[in-house]
Amino acid sequence: MCGIIGYIGKKYPQEILLEGLKKLEYRGYDSAGIALKEKNHIQIIKSVGKISNLEDKISKEKLIESHIGIAHTRWATHGIPNETNAHPHKVGKITLVHNGIIENAKELKKELEEKGVHFYSETDTEVIAALINLYYENNLEEAIEKATKELKGSYALAILCEDDEKLYAIRKESPLILGIGDNEFFVTSDIGAILKYTKDYILLEEKELAILDKDSYVIKKNGKEQKKEILVSTLNDEDSTLHGYEHYMLKEIMEEPVLVDHLIQKYQDNIELLPDLKKYKHIHIIGCGSAYYAGMIGKNLYEEDGLKVEIDVASEYRYRNIIYDEDTLVILISQSGETADTIAAMRKAIENHIDTLAIVNVEGSTIARESTYKILIEAGREVAVATTKAYILQVLILSLLSYKINPDKEYLEDLKKLPQHLKVLLDKEEFYQELAEKIYKEEDVFFIGRRIDYAISLEGSLKLKEVSYIHSDAYQAGELKHGTISLVNKGTIVFGIVSDEVTKEKTISNLEEVISRGAIPIYVGNEESNYENQIIVPKVHPKLQSLLIVPTLQMIAYYVAKKRGCNIDKPKNLAKSVTVE
Ligand code: GLU
Repeated sequence: MCGIIGYIGKKYPQEILLEGLKKLEYRGYDSAGIALKEKNHIQIIKSVGKISNLEDKISKEKLIESHIGIAHTRWATHGIPNETNAHPHKVGKITLVHNGIIENAKELKKELEEKGVHFYSETDTEVIAALINLYYENNLEEAIEKATKELKGSYALAILCEDDEKLYAIRKESPLILGIGDNEFFVTSDIGAILKYTKDYILLEEKELAILDKDSYVIKKNGKEQKKEILVSTLNDEDSTLHGYEHYMLKEIMEEPVLVDHLIQKYQDNIELLPDLKKYKHIHIIGCGSAYYAGMIGKNLYEEDGLKVEIDVASEYRYRNIIYDEDTLVILISQSGETADTIAAMRKAIENHIDTLAIVNVEGSTIARESTYKILIEAGREVAVATTKAYILQVLILSLLSYKINPDKEYLEDLKKLPQHLKVLLDKEEFYQELAEKIYKEEDVFFIGRRIDYAISLEGSLKLKEVSYIHSDAYQAGELKHGTISLVNKGTIVFGIVSDEVTKEKTISNLEEVISRGAIPIYVGNEESNYENQIIVPKVHPKLQSLLIVPTLQMIAYYVAKKRGCNIDKPKNLAKSVTVE
């Protein structure tokens, strides 16, 4: 998590760094800081909370005239979010910002303390600065190489040294790219932070060290210079503006019809562009959070297609003893392509000589680069921490892969109608607001469904709890009687997802059971019902149905959170791209 941005060039960096931090704020936002350098003077300003707090603080300071700077927005892993623990961290001549976790920080700290180093913060990051400073005599490159060899865990680092006019960057298992501008250079965790200045970038591979000067750069690995390709981003700076919407979450939900249409246009007549899952005897689907729930939709579809499918969350999968069959394909779903646990799951499959398929949004991300196959969901930048459009596009890709296994005419006809249906459904903003009115004071909300409707329930429930902080859970409707029904009280809201033809009647019976115990039902289906509260979406091919239902639940979550006055785009304790384990 966390965001890093660094600048070196002719301009004064503070504005570039602050703007960049605002674009990175989605990655972590408990504290932030900036370091500017002029000759051998380094000025550090930090603050707790949002970037706007840092901005206020900076506006009151007299800044040094600098052309090099680094900045950081933190998502704490070691030590509470306070000013002392906020980055940048300075030890001796070394100042740096860090994204990641140093797993052997405690041991290293002890060793350094024995050598007389005194630590002021609780962070693992300060240990890195201390280590580099310890090894630094007159060659910083060597000191960085030597210090990073001792680190276990993950890091992306942007480093300044009092003695020279350069900016250094190195990474391992945390994202970091180099932006190449016109006689100016950037380092950042996410290209979105620098798109205003350049679209040209270089991907830093594991343990490559970038050394940036005012008008040149060099990238080295183990002391040897590396030849690197300059890539051009297809993203626009525009993607990171609200375009009149109050929140990114709403803007991003509203983008779904257009983005869905774009992918349909790309694949409907070119299904050969997608890999053929039929080649494999066994499919494993891996993801975290919403990506995992998207994967559950895939599991339901592929089982209906006759494939043997297993699904797991990445943080479990990576530590399980998996007995791989030959001809297994591991599908990895991750918006950022940098989710630490999903990367580990991918590498486990690769070590076992198993093919992998990445379904990701970010081209050039670790998962996209290292997988056997990759499919980009082309969502553009997703800023809101709670995913909406990326989830929908992940499910669309999974559904297209299912169509490829078992092509049918009816699917194609319904596929073409999908963007229009979505548009009509999302246009009913007042309807969702009214429904949200009935929910926003609740303390507990339940979602029930079976098979694919259970997968939908999980995502509906997750969205609601992520953004509104209402306790919400999803259950397989058939499991209710085995315990959970004891939680149903008079007035408890229960969403019944009722779209799966095979289990429809069963779920309705379960909904009736909770009504008998005083629950207020919200029926979500593709056929009119007699329930007072209902969300009805057009009936489409079963492989596409979830793509119409989930957006309505996203809208409910959004309006409930809005009524509760929540920080919708940046819910507490969450970060978008979970690049630590
Ligand atoms: N582990 C570091 C800390 O707790 C960096 C966390 C981050 O990636 O923001 O300060």
